[in-house]
Amino acid sequence: MRLKDKVAIITGASGGIGEVTAKKFALEGAKVVIVDLKKEDVDRTVLDLQRIGCEAIGFDADVTKREQVDQFINDTVAYFGRIDAVINNAGITQDAQLIKMTEEQWDRVIDVNLKGVFNVAQSAAKVMIEQKNGVILNASSVVGLYGNFGQTNYAASKFGINGMTKTWARELGKYGIRVNAIAPGFIATSMTQKMPEKVLEMMKNKSPLKRMGSPEDIANGYAYLASDEASFITGAVISIDGGAVI
Ligand code: NAP
Repeated sequence: MRLKDKVAIITGASGGIGEVTAKKFALEGAKVVIVDLKKEDVDRTVLDLQRIGCEAIGFDADVTKREQVDQFINDTVAYFGRIDAVINNAGITQDAQLIKMTEEQWDRVIDVNLKGVFNVAQSAAKVMIEQKNGVILNASSVVGLYGNFGQTNYAASKFGINGMTKTWARELGKYGIRVNAIAPGFIATSMTQKMPEKVLEMMKNKSPLKRMGSPEDIANGYAYLASDEASFITGAVISIDGGAVI
């Protein structure tokens, strides 16, 4: 059990990659804190983890709302006494080509994918600095490495994630805090279900392994990076994409 008794907060943990990551962390022995928007989804996920013997708690919170973020960070410390890892997984898409993108589409994606990650990382970092230990992991994307048609807002947010990851690694290393990002390729979740079949087929064919990834492929990466096995890795944006970006 690589994460035995580590306390891990996972945002967007009631669906897709986040939910599978929560289960992986539970199976690796972590105490898991589920954060997501809808209470019923949070409760269901917490119950699923408790059923497999995990000490899990959950909060329905919006990562864009600073007071809600501070609340679940404080409540986690009150309940578990510490925070060993934060996985900033919550993220959204609202696609449109540059000419057609609305201000609302721009603002919402930047708000969730960038400000939400900033909010959670800043609030958690204060706890980790006190502890002199911790791991912050951020969800980037292949789109944050090569851009993508119709994703101005999403690409900007994921390039931004890479920049924040490297900046925080530099700032927080002296406190024993590691900061890394994973840049997934196209992974079968509700996010990619929204994409046209033609585009997904094209993406599959572009990658040397000729398949989409599974949420487990990404969850395995987060589990490794959160574990002590990765104790000399910081400031990295690690591609898990079947070779889509080489
Ligand atoms: P997903 O299936 O859509 O799950 C995202 C989760 O985040 C949902 O449960 C969603 O809740 C929650 N969420 C959205 N906004 C939130 C907010 N403001 N506060 C708290 N929770 C919020 O997405 P996914 O495909 O698993 O993606 C997870 C992460 O990986 C994202 O950052 C994404 O950009 C990144 N990623 C995904 C892929 C891919 O191919 N799937 C590729 C590269 C990177 P609701 O369902 O209630 O909205």
